[in-house]
Amino acid sequence: MTELTFRYVALTDTGLRRTANQDSGFASNRLLVIADGMGGAAAGDLASSETMHVIRKLDGNLEGDPLEALAGAVLRANDRLGELIAEDPAVEGMGTTLDALLWDGKKFAMAHIGDSRAYRLRGGKLTQISDDHTFVQSLVDEGRLSPDEARHHPHRSLILRALLGRDDNDPDISTVEAKLGDRYLLCSDGLSDMVEDHVIEATLAAETIDLAATELIRLALEGGGYDNVTVVIAEMVEADAPVDESLSSANGQPQLVGAAAGQPRPRTGQTGLSGSDAGSRSEDVPAKPLDPEEVRYMPRPPSSRRWLRWTLALLVLAAILGGIGKVTYDWTQKQYFVATDNGKVAIFRGVQAEIPGLKLQHVDTVTTIDVTTLQKFQQKQVRAGIEASSHKDAQDIVANLDQFVTPKPAPTPTPTPTKTPTTKKTSAAIRSTDAQRVERS
Ligand code: CA
Repeated sequence: MTELTFRYVALTDTGLRRTANQDSGFASNRLLVIADGMGGAAAGDLASSETMHVIRKLDGNLEGDPLEALAGAVLRANDRLGELIAEDPAVEGMGTTLDALLWDGKKFAMAHIGDSRAYRLRGGKLTQISDDHTFVQSLVDEGRLSPDEARHHPHRSLILRALLGRDDNDPDISTVEAKLGDRYLLCSDGLSDMVEDHVIEATLAAETIDLAATELIRLALEGGGYDNVTVVIAEMVEADAPVDESLSSANGQPQLVGAAAGQPRPRTGQTGLSGSDAGSRSEDVPAKPLDPEEVRYMPRPPSSRRWLRWTLALLVLAAILGGIGKVTYDWTQKQYFVATDNGKVAIFRGVQAEIPGLKLQHVDTVTTIDVTTLQKFQQKQVRAGIEASSHKDAQDIVANLDQFVTPKPAPTPTPTPTKTPTTKKTSAAIRSTDAQRVERS
């Protein structure tokens, strides 16, 4: 059997709408990795780069079973995120997608979590070899949405699984058998959202992988460039094939790009290959009201802690009895939360505590959002009340919820009773993930 190795390239671009790059990409002759961070400006960078730093330690001497080595590294990366969140609660909610291909000389071990994608181009035909851990993919698996509808669905970026520093988000681990001539592409949703699969298929077949990488990024920018876009490409060649000096990997050095490289690519209007990616970070423009990346992974930190409310109620009561009632009452009236008012989502001023004879809360704004049009887990969150740190935060929570409203009732999607065991298994897995999330909220 022919001994194989591969050529590689990693390339990223901040895109046309973002001011920072939260993607990280890595490629070497052993390891291919992509991580797309989420959770707000600084935290997304942190999640993706820290994960990358842990995973790329695999790019040393590989000992033992590659699947175990990779699974272990993913666990360590997840633990690392957990530590960071414990150290600084401000980054709670940050997370990252991850796709990693680890080469053992014969085959790849693959880890996948989130909605970044792994594709294989073999004999001119493109196949996605990762399953999107997304809300829309779960609908596709259940036969309630066509892949094309999923592509244009308003909630297509909602992820059901990502590395979040907790212990309930396992990656898919598998083995990928490679053949001579195969090309592998790992990409963030900044590519797959902007460029359709048939275009990716044609482009990935370019004369060289470096040309393919440059062209894919160009197409993503041309398609709108709404998001950071990162591609990591490998091409399987014979182990004794001569080095192609025209390629960026000809020097044999690993390539690290994006957030993990600490040099987010400035928006220059042109793309180049990694390695020549020096340059300063572009000036940040004032933050937009709601960064869609912040809501990619939906569950917010748990907010309906009943004991907290009771403690609060007791404190308020004690303060009133203790004669500092006015100050305390005024404080409660500077607090906000989102809950329901006659079936509509509403912003309340005050605290969610009950003291007989004293009104500690009143409706500030009633929105037009009908609670029943929200996703189930959100309905539960809203009914329990979501605490907000300010009026602005409460408005952001509402704007966030508004993005997930489903027009009701949804009469059309006739659930085609797909009988294949695979489909059933996938949906069940996703449902159980969903259920866990509801429990946590
Ligand atoms: Ca992204």
